[in-house]
Amino acid sequence: MVSAVLAAAVAFAVAGPAHADKKSRQKAPTKIVYLTFDDGPNPSNDPRLLKVLAREHVPATFFVLGSLVAADRQRATELWLAGHALGNHTWAHPDLTFLSPQAIHHQFAATQRVIGPGAGACMRPPYGATNSTVVGVAGGLGLKQILWTVDPQDFSHQDATYLTNHISSRVHHKAIVLLHDGGGPRGATTSAVKRLIPLLRARGYEFRTVPACRVPLKGAVTDAAKPKQRKPPEPPEPVPTPTAPAGMAL
Ligand SMILES: [Zn+2]
Repeated sequence: MVSAVLAAAVAFAVAGPAHADKKSRQKAPTKIVYLTFDDGPNPSNDPRLLKVLAREHVPATFFVLGSLVAADRQRATELWLAGHALGNHTWAHPDLTFLSPQAIHHQFAATQRVIGPGAGACMRPPYGATNSTVVGVAGGLGLKQILWTVDPQDFSHQDATYLTNHISSRVHHKAIVLLHDGGGPRGATTSAVKRLIPLLRARGYEFRTVPACRVPLKGAVTDAAKPKQRKPPEPPEPVPTPTAPAGMAL
């Protein structure tokens, strides 16, 4: 690595300013945008959303709930096999800032276990509610916190035109867009995604999975670029009954 950097520096010095000018005229780096979907997997919304993403070859990041993965493991596996990254959105969607460190640990650990080898090394706290305890407990499990930079509030605005305009007017390089595939009907969200893909590509954006979420926590390969080479995750171990407060508020 060091020698490569040195070689590049030497090449630059030898080539001189003319080389630098040529470089500066090269095409600007591609802009990247990360689409993220929370609160799934969802049997009503995911099939159409996955179809749209597959047709356009767009990888996305799904922050899934452990309790829903446990109820429909096949659907979570399908997300992963389709080339998407899976992040940890807790087991039962509590506000983690009200929980003890032990309860926070359980929310993340049980979810990580039920997702299995497809789980990325990332988490998103429900409601974005976080503090140093939440970050610390997640970090102890190897999970990096991922929030967002663009939030069209698709919960409140089930209007594809509104969502499309909101996102396209605020998107930026490395934008993390917060959307939902769970918690209710998401037809407007899916329609907005369908419109946004060509719109943002025309402006030079590429769609990627959130880097931390494509890193497997336990050695499984989650290369989003080669989904066809993937093998289904092994069946997860039985998950203990969650001790978090009941009543999943989405
Ligand atoms: Zn959520």
